[in-house]
Amino acid sequence: MQLVFKGGKIVHIHCKSEDCGNEWKIEEGSDWSQKFDAKQSQSGIWTIICKKCGRSYLSG
Ligand SMILES: [Zn+2]
Repeated sequence: MQLVFKGGKIVHIHCKSEDCGNEWKIEEGSDWSQKFDAKQSQSGIWTIICKKCGRSYLSG
């Protein structure tokens, strides 16, 4: 999973799994919830779950 931040905000999420390729960009609108579940813990770590293939990813 690839996460791109700009100014502290997520602007691009890309699931890099060969058989998936699910992708969201800020240009599509600010709501990624159709494609990914993304939550930030109190310690600042993001948990991203791809809704297409179900893989999860922890940032940081
Ligand atoms: Zn995926």
